[in-house]
Amino acid sequence: MGADGGAIMKRSELVKTIKENKEEDVSADNAWENCQLSGELLSEPIVSDYKGFLYNKKSILEYLLGINSTEAVNISKFSHIKQLRDVVELHREFQGDEWVDSVDKQSVSAHKTSKGFGYIVECGHVLPLDFLKRSDCCYTCESSFEFYVIINPSTDISREHNLHRMQSLLERGKTHNLRQMKRQDRTKKRSFVASNSSKRKKSET
Ligand SMILES: [Zn+2]
Repeated sequence: MGADGGAIMKRSELVKTIKENKEEDVSADNAWENCQLSGELLSEPIVSDYKGFLYNKKSILEYLLGINSTEAVNISKFSHIKQLRDVVELHREFQGDEWVDSVDKQSVSAHKTSKGFGYIVECGHVLPLDFLKRSDCCYTCESSFEFYVIINPSTDISREHNLHRMQSLLERGKTHNLRQMKRQDRTKKRSFVASNSSKRKKSET
């Protein structure tokens, strides 16, 4: 694909970076500006998982190249990302260097605490939650959508929203990016359902 091999971080370096970042979760303040995996500033192309976290696609590719490393697999925060189907490429709108809201053209970073954002998996467009909640087609490209993913969810309700969406897709044999699951993914479905039902039991007690 003509990737510049020199720009790709060595696997050992990446695992070290991931470990450092894992200890100290990307905080709410920089979750909108930094890749959750590498801690680097977000720069296009960016992707997101079903949990609504943001990543540089480059970091995810580097991570996936090292996916067979025992150390990487043990990082449970990212263990749900096993292939590119587990992330979706997002399309943000910019004015100059500023990431802006596609609806009212205001800075997303400046609004991060007062206004939530989500994305439509069908097209990858990022939109304010207040728009997504009351619509069934994209403001930017008019793609119709069934679900949206809440970016950087900060409440249990938002996290549950993303989790329920993923569970519903898995029940239909689909991956996060809406592709039909491969046969080997069936075990993933079982482990996902098992781990989340045990979590739920814990939180209920
Ligand atoms: Zn769209």
